[in-house]
Amino acid sequence: MTEPLFIYNTLTRTKEKFEPLHPPLVGMYVCGPTVYSDVHLGNCRTFVSFDLVYRYLCFLGYKVRYVRNITDAGHLEGDRDEGDDKFAKKAKLEQVEPMEIVQKYTLGFHEVMQLLNTRPPSIEPTATGHICEQIEMIKQILANGYAYEVNGTVYFDVEKYNQKYPYGLLTNRQLEDLIAGTRELGGQDEKKGRLDFALWIHAKPEHVMRWPSPWGWGFPGWHIECSAMSSKYLGDTFDIHGGGMDLQATHHTNEIAQSQACHQKAPVRYWMHTNMLTVNGTRMSKSAGNGFLPGELFTGAHPLLDKAYSPMTVRFFMLQSHYRSTLDFSNEALKASEKGFQRLMSTYALLENLRTGSSSSSNIKELEEKCYAAMNDDFNSPILLAHLFEGARIIQAVHAGSETISSEDLVTLKKFMKGFLFDVLGLRSEATLSNELMEGTVGLVLSLRKEAKDRKDFAQSDKIREELNKLHIEIKDSKDGTSWSINQ
Ligand code: AMP
Ligand code: ZN
Repeated sequence: MTEPLFIYNTLTRTKEKFEPLHPPLVGMYVCGPTVYSDVHLGNCRTFVSFDLVYRYLCFLGYKVRYVRNITDAGHLEGDRDEGDDKFAKKAKLEQVEPMEIVQKYTLGFHEVMQLLNTRPPSIEPTATGHICEQIEMIKQILANGYAYEVNGTVYFDVEKYNQKYPYGLLTNRQLEDLIAGTRELGGQDEKKGRLDFALWIHAKPEHVMRWPSPWGWGFPGWHIECSAMSSKYLGDTFDIHGGGMDLQATHHTNEIAQSQACHQKAPVRYWMHTNMLTVNGTRMSKSAGNGFLPGELFTGAHPLLDKAYSPMTVRFFMLQSHYRSTLDFSNEALKASEKGFQRLMSTYALLENLRTGSSSSSNIKELEEKCYAAMNDDFNSPILLAHLFEGARIIQAVHAGSETISSEDLVTLKKFMKGFLFDVLGLRSEATLSNELMEGTVGLVLSLRKEAKDRKDFAQSDKIREELNKLHIEIKDSKDGTSWSINQ
């Protein structure tokens, strides 16, 4: 194992040495997508960031249970437990069942995650699949005295909670400041306190997604699913909880309150938050309407895009900034990423045929250590990439004959370049993939041509040659067989 890993903990606002509760096991929970619409590139940034965390922890030898939920119920349009249900509204618009909406956008999400080469989580629980667990948790919070029921809706009592535990811990805010920043209660409000939020919501007659509960027919509030599912799969206290920083002030603050009120333990040891993907400085979001869909990038079908960008270019673009920095989306930045990614990959391909000498011009071991040091410093992928580019520079210099490398160092260089590029950063060489496909396909066509020649069907074999020529594939027959090359 290398030097210790340090993680920036949002809760303490410091970088802390990572010490899991039950090593080598690590429990990690990440708030997943709300599947009433397509995920946009901003959502993807958060999931790619936690994929990096997951991959690096596994790379270090930890056995990670990675839980990422699917939010498929309980989201109302307003942020005050009122307004239309987002799933029902979309279902009405598309004239389908709400669960068809859930299915459609879950499948779309998985497809995008696969294209971006993120590893699937160990468990992907859904809110609708855990209604019983949510009800049980609400019952316990009520029994512990931190919630109250009004007309079939159960609210969390923030002021009562704050008498024992500091409510605004995650964002370092006092309750009075938080209250001052919220709208006053109106005459219609059932809540006792301005910051109180719903754990369970009474279903109006028109509400489709509804379940029976001790408080009548209803549905869970926005935050309870994550508390219920994280404790079910990872325990009352677990190692890492993540999400975008837009979730800190409300969703995660309320998650802490619910879990603490239920189990009387702090639920999470390391809170991690990713910064936002922005477009011209404005946060990319579904509601702002400035969301780029991954598919629009991969095909180039968006008025603001000059061209299409491959999934690995997009992943590389995201990894070029640290997860806690903002990342602004632009054609120029993507073009630069495309170039950088291709350069790194084509140089990596030279590694296989490098000649070794008796000694090395560069310190390869030190470069390897720097790669680990970058990742151990709160998953600093841009610094890691700078070191990998230094690795690429060395490869090129050795290839050109201006530097030398010993055979021992070449083994080290191959090992860590491969490990960090593919296992940790999760990149994959798109050129290699299509080359393999190309080799296979042309090989197949040439074997058909050989069969035609063997049965003296020269018309057919010439036709195959001509058709391949039209595709700029030139074939050469010699006494050793047939070879081919791309003629551009
Ligand atoms: P949602 O589907 O809206 O619940 O969001 C899924 C995840 O994406 C959450 O962790 C959000 O914090 C995160 N997210 C939303 N917008 C952005 C953005 N512009 N940049 C990065 N992450 C985001
Ligand atoms: Zn959540």
